Amino acid sequence: MVHRHTPFVIRVKDRHVDLSTVEGVQLGVDPGSRQTGISVFSTVHTKEGDVRRGLYAIELTHRGGQIRDKLAQRAACRRSRRSRNTRYRAPRFLNRSRPKGWLAPSLRHRVDTVVSWGSRLARWAPVTVVYMEKVAFDTHVLSAEGPVDHQRGMLQSLEIREYLRVKWDRACAYCGTRAVPLNIEHLHPRSRGGSDRVANLVLACIPCNQAKGKRPVEEFLAARPEALAKVLVQAEASLRDTAAANTTNWALWRSFTARFPAVCSASGVRTKWNRTHAGLPKTHTLDALCVGALDGVVQYSAAVLAVTATGRGTYARTRSDKHGFPRLRLPRNKRVHGYATGDLARAVVPRGKKAGTHTGRVAVRSSGNFNVRTRHGLVQGIRHTHFRLLQRADGYGYTTRLEAAIPPPSEAEGSYARRFR
Ligand SMILES: [Zn+2]
Repeated sequence: MVHRHTPFVIRVKDRHVDLSTVEGVQLGVDPGSRQTGISVFSTVHTKEGDVRRGLYAIELTHRGGQIRDKLAQRAACRRSRRSRNTRYRAPRFLNRSRPKGWLAPSLRHRVDTVVSWGSRLARWAPVTVVYMEKVAFDTHVLSAEGPVDHQRGMLQSLEIREYLRVKWDRACAYCGTRAVPLNIEHLHPRSRGGSDRVANLVLACIPCNQAKGKRPVEEFLAARPEALAKVLVQAEASLRDTAAANTTNWALWRSFTARFPAVCSASGVRTKWNRTHAGLPKTHTLDALCVGALDGVVQYSAAVLAVTATGRGTYARTRSDKHGFPRLRLPRNKRVHGYATGDLARAVVPRGKKAGTHTGRVAVRSSGNFNVRTRHGLVQGIRHTHFRLLQRADGYGYTTRLEAAIPPPSEAEGSYARRFR
């Protein structure tokens, strides 16, 4: 039985619960400011290690920008009302406090929609673990002790590079130059007993790097004591996780840990490393597949469900012209002939200019002639009698697209999705 049209979910009715035990799947999340990649995958244990098999991919497009614009519009309306001559209203006090954990509405929307999609997927598939990209780099890897193998060494040097970029604000520590190639520099040179600790490392432009040579920093900056003091203070400053991760990712992390029994956080550096070693191009969905600790990717889903947050309509029942006067009035009722704007429907038009099948998001008109936004564009003015409802509006628009083209393999390894160690 079909439970849901998009994403396609079926309900199996011919067996009992005890016959339906399935191995769990995992969820990978790559949060972004405009788009978030979500990937459902299973982990296969092979002799090469744990490799991932991508099963389903969702690219969620947020509407934070629209929310911000709407709120700015509302603020402007209220501002204009204050100077207008209106009836007396009792002043309101103490209405400016924000609860703990408050996020701007555009950011709150991002957190809520991602968690909502995680919960939906968990309802349809047995999600055991959620892997989430939380931080740009991993501070644990930076200070990790113990033997360093080749893989960890490579990863560590990438994490260090990313860490130093954030710590030194992508500028030369000595002269502040930006947008030039920066080298990793030892404050106290190793030839004079300086260590490889991250606190002893800075970023420097090539001229400064060469000018300093093998001298300790105190000698190099002896003529500029204030610059020296600044560099020494910044070198000892610890960033911890807070500076590397943004508040939205933290809020997302807290929401996920509240809903799922096992949530693993990972760094962006690690995701990138995993993805490039699997030979996959950069998309949000493939990043989501590569979050966390893994040894390879053997398969990924060729089709991506592109989900766009559309909202559920507007409360405003008038449209105004540019002077603010009402131009037209919208109907109070959302439903027209049983359809509402945002419903997913299929229209089969037998003849005429618009003959054919059109599947997509409907925009209702009280005339009874609806518009439908399909994958190929907008088709206007289709009679409501031609439509068949596929799914009620749920605040999202759905289309599918193919996963990004994979660059041809550089080595003669045959398969695109390569295993790696
Ligand atoms: Zn410099």
